[in-house]
Amino acid sequence: MFDSFLSHSMMKRAIEKKLVRISARSLRDFTRDRHKSCDDKPFGGGPGMLMKPEPIFEAVEELWGRIPAPAGGGSASGGKKTVHFAKRRRFIYMTPQGVPFDQRKAEDLSRSRHLVFLCGRYEGVDQRVVDRLVTDEISIGDYVLTGGEVPAMVVIDAVVRLLKGVMGSEASKSFESFSHNLLEYPQYTRPATYRGMRVPQVLLSGNHREIERWRKEEAVQRTLKRRPDILKKQESRQCTP
Ligand code: SAM
Repeated sequence: MFDSFLSHSMMKRAIEKKLVRISARSLRDFTRDRHKSCDDKPFGGGPGMLMKPEPIFEAVEELWGRIPAPAGGGSASGGKKTVHFAKRRRFIYMTPQGVPFDQRKAEDLSRSRHLVFLCGRYEGVDQRVVDRLVTDEISIGDYVLTGGEVPAMVVIDAVVRLLKGVMGSEASKSFESFSHNLLEYPQYTRPATYRGMRVPQVLLSGNHREIERWRKEEAVQRTLKRRPDILKKQESRQCTP
C-alpha cells in the first residue's frame, strides 16, 4: 500500500530531495512463531481478533531502544504510563477513537523529528500498547475503516507538505484552507470567459489591494456558509487565556 503512495507526486519529490525519510515495516517481521501471527482472540470473548503487544513492543525497541518496565508493577490500563521517548519523537496510533485530525495537528506533528505510525487491523490493538507506548491517538473522521494504513497516509501527506522546501512555492501554503482558520477563497484560471461564465472582474483588474480584499471577503463568506464551526473554534481559542 505504501509503495505506490511514496512513489508519486509530492511524496516522491520530497523523498528524492531528502527532505523526509519514510519506511514501512511489517509487524510480521517482529514475530517469533512460524505462522508469524500478529493477532489473537480478545480475552473475555467477543467478535474478531486483536493485534498482539509483542511484535509492536519489539518493533519500537528496534527503532528506539529498550523500553523500561513500568514503574510500580504492571497493572494494565488506567493511569498515564506512556514511555517518555526522546524529545520530538511521537508514536502515533491511528484509531477512530483518537483526537480528530486537523491542520493544527498537522502543523504540530510537522515540528517533530521522528514520527512512527501504528496502523491497526482487525479490532485494533491490545490496550497495553496504547497505555505504554502511544503518545498520540489520531482519528481521520467519525467512520470505521478496515485498517490504519489509509489514515496514516492521510496524516503523512498533510504533514510532509508542511516541511520546509517540499512545496514548490511556500506562498501557496500560506493562503490555504485552515491556515488562517478560514477556507480558501474561490480560484479561477484561463480562459477569462468559458461557456459564457466570466471570471470576477476584480481578478482581471491588476489591482492587488482590491484582489486581496476580495479574496479575504470571499474566504470569510465561504467559511461562514460552509464551516461556521471553524470560526467558532478560533473565537473560543482567542477567549481562552
Ligand atoms: N474496533 C475498533 C473500534 O471500534 O474502535 C475499530 C477497528 S478498525 C476495524 C481497524 C483499524 O483501522 C483501527 O485499529 C485503526 O488503526 C484503523 N482505523 C479505522 N478507522 C479509522 C479512523 N477513522 N481513523 C483512524 N484510524 C482508523
